[in-house]
Amino acid sequence: MISRKQENGRNLKPLSTSREWKLLYYQHGRPGLEEGKKFKGLCNYCDLQSLCGLPKPESGVWRCEHYRAKVVKKSSLHENVLKLLEKAQETNNFDRDICKIMAETMNELVVHFPVKMDDGHVKMLTGYRVQHNNALGPFKGGLRFHPMVDIDEIRALATMMTWKTAIVNIPFGGAKGGIQINPAEFSLKELERIARRFTFALGNNIGPDYDIPAPDVNTNAKIMAWIQDTYMSTIAPDERNRCLHVVTGKPIEAGGSVGREKATGQGVVFCIEKWAQDKGFNLKGATYIVQGFGNVGSWAARLMKMNGSKLIAVEDVTGAIRNKEGIDPDELAQYVKENGGVVDYPKAEAIDHEVFFSTKADVFIPAALENAINRETAELLNVTLVAEGANGPTDEDGDKILQRRGIEAIPDILCNSGGVIVSYFEWLQNKRSEFWELEEIDAKLRKIIVSAYERVRDAAQRYKVDWRTAAQIVALYRLEMVYKERGIFP
Ligand code: NAD
Repeated sequence: MISRKQENGRNLKPLSTSREWKLLYYQHGRPGLEEGKKFKGLCNYCDLQSLCGLPKPESGVWRCEHYRAKVVKKSSLHENVLKLLEKAQETNNFDRDICKIMAETMNELVVHFPVKMDDGHVKMLTGYRVQHNNALGPFKGGLRFHPMVDIDEIRALATMMTWKTAIVNIPFGGAKGGIQINPAEFSLKELERIARRFTFALGNNIGPDYDIPAPDVNTNAKIMAWIQDTYMSTIAPDERNRCLHVVTGKPIEAGGSVGREKATGQGVVFCIEKWAQDKGFNLKGATYIVQGFGNVGSWAARLMKMNGSKLIAVEDVTGAIRNKEGIDPDELAQYVKENGGVVDYPKAEAIDHEVFFSTKADVFIPAALENAINRETAELLNVTLVAEGANGPTDEDGDKILQRRGIEAIPDILCNSGGVIVSYFEWLQNKRSEFWELEEIDAKLRKIIVSAYERVRDAAQRYKVDWRTAAQIVALYRLEMVYKERGIFP
């Protein structure tokens, strides 16, 4: 048993089990080192060691996940979003004034709020809600809990939500929010107080017909229920039951919709199926790899299995695994539920980040964080199709490399729109006091996402552009129409 140092006044638990070993190994070690050496050299690149909960090393050249995430963050997501907007504007000669509106966010809220920890001390936290545009309907977008959340990221994601709702033709605008925390460092009770206090700080900047949050990275149905309950507790009693739809992605018991939990992954798979149908590609026996095995990644993986496709490699924040004979996504999802990550899954070998990206497969589903496909990793990819489950998983360099290498990509704002589509169904059911069946939800979702797919595909052919630019053109076209009809007040 290895003892861990005392840090920040906290006694860290000894690393005894192999799972804990591996977790540390993947977060802070480099593959190829002997186990005895892993603990000696902690990440000396990372100046976020307080997040890692580990001391900064005196020697060694290892890089931890936080370092990797920081490198990934170097490329500004918002700059990438604006560059795409500019490219679409030039391609189709969109109205410059309308593009000026689209390049800015409407409202940006940054809140600093105190939360009482279990041991009685108070922590100040920072949360964001950015509302990009509501020309098509109420602001709509997820809330994420992540240490790397910042205003640039939330701005970009809010803007992308506007494009997404426009492409799929649903009556919502775009927003996004988040709290800059590592949820793993908090107890469930603390997370509840964080979610509730953040909701209180947002006040009437959210609302069922104004701005409707939903789950995103590290948030889930339970957190949505806390937000809903806090919001409903702060308004007049006679209005409470008209506000169930202040959030979507809620538990079914709290007014959620069947099919919402799997909706984003389901949408990704509907897009892949449509792509395969168009190309005459047989998904039965096809191989796929998935980055991120949370809500989007695990559902996409499980639904791909129903096409007879074979999952052969997975990477999440704890590490990467591979088994060329196939990994059962349902079994892996159960394992992740019990163990917190894919690392140490007994029916696959552990591989490193680069080997994961080099794995030969037919389809790659990135379903983790932004900028995962970049200058380094895009060169490694050995796949035919990238189906973007995550938001912004491909940066500008990565995108150019994919195009040069002839790797097709179904862009995020189309491919992962299943979540917001079924959120729209949930919102409608709440407003009308209705409960729809899963078959009805799936059929409506398929119809909407497939026709959006066809609009993007046809725009790519018509304007002779890549799919990412085509998706942007489809979105801008719809927004330009609305502004042209309504004019600019006053
Ligand atoms: P989640 O928190 O459920 O899962 C995130 C997954 O990513 C986890 O498996 C985590 O281990 C993994 N991950 C995190 N950092 C990583 C790293 N550095 N390397 C490898 N893996 C890493 O989140 P989610 O809801 O599944 O969201 C995933 C992506 O999909 C995000 O980009 C999100 O914005 C996007 N998205 C989510 C929804 C939704 O309905 N939840 C809708 C549209 C888009």
